[in-house]
Amino acid sequence: FEGMTISELAKRTGRSIPFLEEILVNVGEEVGSEFDPVSIDVVELIAMEVGVNVKRLHSNEGAELLPRPPVVTVMGHVDHGKTSLLDALCQTSVAAKESGGITQHLGAFVVDMPSGASITFLDTPGHAALSAMRARGAAVTDIVVLVVAADDGVMPQTLEAMAHAKAANVPVVVAVNKCDKPAADPERVRIQLGSEGLLLEDMGGDVQVVEVSAVTKAGLDKLEEALLLQAELMDLKARIDGPAQAYVVEARLDRGRGPMATAIVKAGTLMCGQYVVVGAEWGKIRTIRDMLGKVKDKALPSMPFEFEGLRGLPMAGDDITVVNSEERARMLSEGRGKKLEKNRLEKIGEGRIETPNESE
Ligand code: GDP
Ligand code: MG
Repeated sequence: FEGMTISELAKRTGRSIPFLEEILVNVGEEVGSEFDPVSIDVVELIAMEVGVNVKRLHSNEGAELLPRPPVVTVMGHVDHGKTSLLDALCQTSVAAKESGGITQHLGAFVVDMPSGASITFLDTPGHAALSAMRARGAAVTDIVVLVVAADDGVMPQTLEAMAHAKAANVPVVVAVNKCDKPAADPERVRIQLGSEGLLLEDMGGDVQVVEVSAVTKAGLDKLEEALLLQAELMDLKARIDGPAQAYVVEARLDRGRGPMATAIVKAGTLMCGQYVVVGAEWGKIRTIRDMLGKVKDKALPSMPFEFEGLRGLPMAGDDITVVNSEERARMLSEGRGKKLEKNRLEKIGEGRIETPNESE
């Protein structure tokens, strides 16, 4: 839609040109000729006013694509060791070792491999991350690590996790955890997963299975290798140049600094000083920090970062859109806020939700 003219927009939306021009005047946009191309922000605003859905498609055409690290989410049955495994993986990072093992858990961390490759792990509840991002049609997760305890085997939430990954079209790497336990029976887990339709590698499929222990740390290097291999097969690449397309992974309110969000860039580069609309919030990127707390001037694809500068608290899964002025940011967030409120009222009207504070 970028570069569309008012005249074309009128045709597409079935509204008159004066009608669209009035919308622009109302939000303080300058109205030029109906044949002048308008910005993507204006297109989105008009679409919101006339009730049409638009999705920003960032074209990768002609842009240079560079390899990017995989973004990995851990899922599995309760008590099978997701948290323990994430902690153990976090500690394998060279950077974590250098910083004395002090790592903040802010929704994501990066494991730097001795080979120079790196893996980004999302440290959020897998289901929440996947469904929030899937709802917005933009899975930030590339690979799911399915954790299954070797002594407990496949359980209801194991199957749920498999279903989520399948629905989101995200490949799975299986980590059979707790292999240090005397009661561990990895072979049984393999058979169970196979009979649930997971096409395991040693059964002629392509789903890798790695035996690990989050307690003894055995097999963690193999798991990381498996993830890098999976990533290689997927040939993950992103455009570096141009406006960032990014997603919030976690958000929190810091007493001194205000709203803070952990986010991951999917494509492009996010820079300090840029105006952004995040869900229905807006702000100016004031500070960018990497997951070790180092201040950066920009954020690149697949590398999680934390930023300050939003006016309000966004939600996990919200998309981050770069706009070119404070006015645009303000107007887009207002428009989105109105649209969200309208949707919410409609849902209440239909009796689909009882309370406005719907949790996941
Ligand atoms: P989650 O609910 O999936 O996040 O599971 P947790 O990481 O909280 O682990 C549940 C319990 O299993 C805890 O008591 C852990 O100490 C234990 N646990 C996790 N991984 C292992 C492992 O590899 N071996 C053994 N023996 N215990 C483990
Ligand atoms: Mg846990």
